[in-house]
Amino acid sequence: MSVEKIYTIPVNEAYESDVECPLCSLKKKVENDYLEYYLGPSLMEPDTRVITNKTGFCPEHMGKLNLKETNRLGLGLMLHTHLKDYKDELTPLLNNAAPGKATLLKGRNSDYKAKLNAIADKIDARTKSCPICEKVNYTMDRYSEVVMHLFAKDPAFKDKFTSHHHCLPHVAVLLRTAAGKLSQNEAADFLPLLAKTNEEGFKALIDDVEWFTLKFDYRNTDKPWGTAKNSIQRSMRFLSEDRSEFDEQKSK
Ligand SMILES: [Zn+2]
Ligand SMILES: [Zn+2]
Repeated sequence: MSVEKIYTIPVNEAYESDVECPLCSLKKKVENDYLEYYLGPSLMEPDTRVITNKTGFCPEHMGKLNLKETNRLGLGLMLHTHLKDYKDELTPLLNNAAPGKATLLKGRNSDYKAKLNAIADKIDARTKSCPICEKVNYTMDRYSEVVMHLFAKDPAFKDKFTSHHHCLPHVAVLLRTAAGKLSQNEAADFLPLLAKTNEEGFKALIDDVEWFTLKFDYRNTDKPWGTAKNSIQRSMRFLSEDRSEFDEQKSK
């Protein structure tokens, strides 16, 4: 199968399915595949370990690996070497972080402040570094390029595209990919449709959330919910990306 097909098939499937944001549903699937990958035999492979020893996983993906509750041994071994690698880098830096005491002879010296900030930056960078994020971002870039390609070349794709309201972070992804990949004439076709579906998405949610709040008025108690019942979660998914915290089942 050509590389292009590998990405085209899932993009078409996502846009043909009845989901809120197709890019969210693609991302969930890719992310889950990589979570399983890192909890599978790869966790023991030297090539993978060289990377995960250094990077560990970001807070979000560590949480998701934890919730999977599989391969606890593999996770333990990975964390063991990751902690050691981290300690080897951080301990000497922290041991040398303290400035000398200011004395009458030596006076004040603020060089140590830059050092403290540099160590803090190093910790922040290591906290964020994550091979799952990297791979998911890479795949999502390919998917959004395929969206542009299909939009420009496949007339049937336009209808599939306009039947969805993308979440706002994925609108941003589409805008950037459009800037990078579409010709001016293609962009002239693409952006009005993106704008239209986005405005419709806003309007539908604003109406539904308003009705959600009005349902708290006793005069409306017996009136039907319509589509407003899960409008809080749908708004959160629209404003952010789809996350398990916004799942209707978990917020009853
Ligand atoms: Zn999305
Ligand atoms: Zn991550």
